[in-house]
Amino acid sequence: MPRINNLYNPASDKPFKLSRSKIDMFLDCPRCFYMDRRLGISRPSGPAFTLNVAVDALLKKEFDVYRANGTKHPLMETYGLDAVPVAHELLDQWRHNFTGVQCLHKKINMLVYGAIDDLWKNSAGEYIVVDYKATSKEGEVELTDAKWHNSYRRQMEVYQWLLRQNGLKVSNTGYFFYVNGKKDRAGFNGVLEFDAKLIPYTGSDSWVEQTIFNIYDCLNLSDLPESNLECEFCQYRAKAQAVEK
Ligand code: SF4
Repeated sequence: MPRINNLYNPASDKPFKLSRSKIDMFLDCPRCFYMDRRLGISRPSGPAFTLNVAVDALLKKEFDVYRANGTKHPLMETYGLDAVPVAHELLDQWRHNFTGVQCLHKKINMLVYGAIDDLWKNSAGEYIVVDYKATSKEGEVELTDAKWHNSYRRQMEVYQWLLRQNGLKVSNTGYFFYVNGKKDRAGFNGVLEFDAKLIPYTGSDSWVEQTIFNIYDCLNLSDLPESNLECEFCQYRAKAQAVEK
């Protein structure tokens, strides 16, 4: 049975909740987005990334110590960063997956939201969006042209846009705090060691608002939008249907 979600109902006067990840789904394929948000037919989901969630939770605790003291994390010192982890009365809410940073777009009655990992502030008074990432790969981690890295970039830009809608002065430069699990140790012994790296990303949120309007238009279509011709799942579905017929 497909999962039934909070669907978009054109006749409803309740705000429609649109998460950061669903914005990305729309950009990936309007057809899949429409099926998910309008018709309640979701893509099959895999198991949760529980190890990444654990790393995120521990990093939040780690940075909260420096936030409470108003001092830099050692990696920020290493990179000579002009910033400290900053406190904000709404930070807990902004970090929570089900609330996140929110913006009610009144014109189209959409509540756009996304949960940030961390918030820093520089000496110019600009807030800095920080996202924690965990992986395990040979060599250095870096942002590449890989599809999911473009998704990371958009993720950062949506968070920047949301915080700006909440009245914050936000730097165009955010940081990925990337940790890389080391596989070259003698054994596990209950310990997984990580190298940590700060990757700056300077982006632009100029695309976000128009995309939200495009999403609104998509949700109000009476027919399915076109599918993404490059999508391997749809190609698989088409081939499978052809042989089934
Ligand atoms: S192309 Fe097909 S399977 Fe792929 S995302 Fe779109 S609707 Fe879904």
